[in-house]
Amino acid sequence: MRVIVVGAGIGGLTLAQALHRAGDDVSVHDRDPSASATGGYRLHLDERACAALRRHLRPAHHQALLASSAGPGAFRRLAVTDHRLRVLVLARQDPSGERLLIGRVPLRRLLTHGLDGVVRFGQEFTGHEVHADGSVTARFADGSSERGDLLVGADGVGSRVARALAGRPTSTPVGVTGIAGRTPVDARTRELVPDLLRAGPALAFAPDGVGAFLSLHDPATVPAVDPAACRDVPADVEAPGVVWGLHALDHRLPGDVRERDPAGLAELVTDLLRSWSPGVRALVAAADPGSPASFRFSAVDPDADLTPWPAGPVTCLGDAVHAMPPTGGSAAATAIRDADLLAGHLAAVRAGSTTLPLAVHDYQRQMAAYAPDVVRGSLAPLRWMRAADHPAGGLLARGALPVAALAARASRSLRGRHGRAG
Ligand SMILES: Cc1cc2nc3c(=O)[nH]c(=O)nc-3n(C[C@H](O)[C@H](O)[C@H](O)COP(=O)(O)OP(=O)(O)OC[C@H]3O[C@@H](n4cnc5c(N)ncnc54)[C@H](O)[C@@H]3O)c2cc1C
Repeated sequence: MRVIVVGAGIGGLTLAQALHRAGDDVSVHDRDPSASATGGYRLHLDERACAALRRHLRPAHHQALLASSAGPGAFRRLAVTDHRLRVLVLARQDPSGERLLIGRVPLRRLLTHGLDGVVRFGQEFTGHEVHADGSVTARFADGSSERGDLLVGADGVGSRVARALAGRPTSTPVGVTGIAGRTPVDARTRELVPDLLRAGPALAFAPDGVGAFLSLHDPATVPAVDPAACRDVPADVEAPGVVWGLHALDHRLPGDVRERDPAGLAELVTDLLRSWSPGVRALVAAADPGSPASFRFSAVDPDADLTPWPAGPVTCLGDAVHAMPPTGGSAAATAIRDADLLAGHLAAVRAGSTTLPLAVHDYQRQMAAYAPDVVRGSLAPLRWMRAADHPAGGLLARGALPVAALAARASRSLRGRHGRAG
């Protein structure tokens, strides 16, 4: 079986690892020049995603993943706070479940390990055609093409593959923009790190509809596995830092937010945080000056048919088919879950117990059963931001209740997800 994957992001690379290890002929094509030449900060991998990666990576490779991540000790609970970092709710995590926090760039680099010749960077997908014999050809901007039995669009938000299948974009902007950056933790800044972050990330909300996510990454104090023990596959350890991400309703932001350079974004963040605790402001002010970046949140309509096309030699996974904002911390884990599910169905094709279209059909049906709830969960914090966005006084008091409800729901949903993980 020849599988062509468009997008060497988290989902596409997980699928490639699984198929390559199983002996399939797979190629992955990404428009980025390299795995490192990309953006992104912190990704959360839940128990199911961790289990999938453990299954599809060689033990030494999996060990390197753990050595490159902050382990469960760094995520004992999620704190929901107000903008002064006063705790409203603590959503405790199941201590028995495996969970990782890892930088997007190190994870992407690790997932390309062992895929020399399989992953081809600098190749932008432009379109595809399905042939009468059921095979498919993918075309790239450099004039090259690849013919295979299955084309998988793992090309993220704004996916060209999904748009071609659905005849329309599969997600739309949700009216919220994020601005994220990274503050290195060193002798100069260590005392700025709020104690609160040592037990897990915080999701903070101000009464004016501005929210922030704060997460400490300090592998030196919370090692998952000793990086020095990784000899076969080297660990990819990030320097300690606090990743922060502000999110605000678009109408609260200047029209040029997406054109601003890092310095312009830092200035905007300082302004947006003026009523926040001095500790948060000092932490953000100490950010790496080149780090602030803005991105628009997009999402699929969770009540729509996610795969409005007949199952055949082209399908999609991850954000390409169910884009969601990062506010649920679930997008990467769900892309990995999709890749794991699809790899399982393709194994049945290899074994001769099903056909390729049936395997794609079963994958799409099962994915469409869990993904909409994950999208809804990720959209919940944005609903609260909108509810709080009213020009009345005393909003914090009014807002605390919805936040508490949200956190309780988040906690229940995390417990539920882990319960189903089995
Ligand atoms: C630059 C960037 C930074 C991010 N930062 C964060 C973050 O800090 N925190 C967070 O929670 N989430 C972040 N995300 C989103 C997160 O990575 C995804 O939501 C999640 O990993 C789902 O993965 P995916 O495999 O579906 O898509 P992604 O991991 O987004 O991968 C999609 C890949 O497809 C490639 N691609 C797109 N179009 C084409 C094309 N036409 N031809 C070839 N290749 C194409 C892209 O270059 C990308 O590598 C970021 C995404 C990107 C692209």
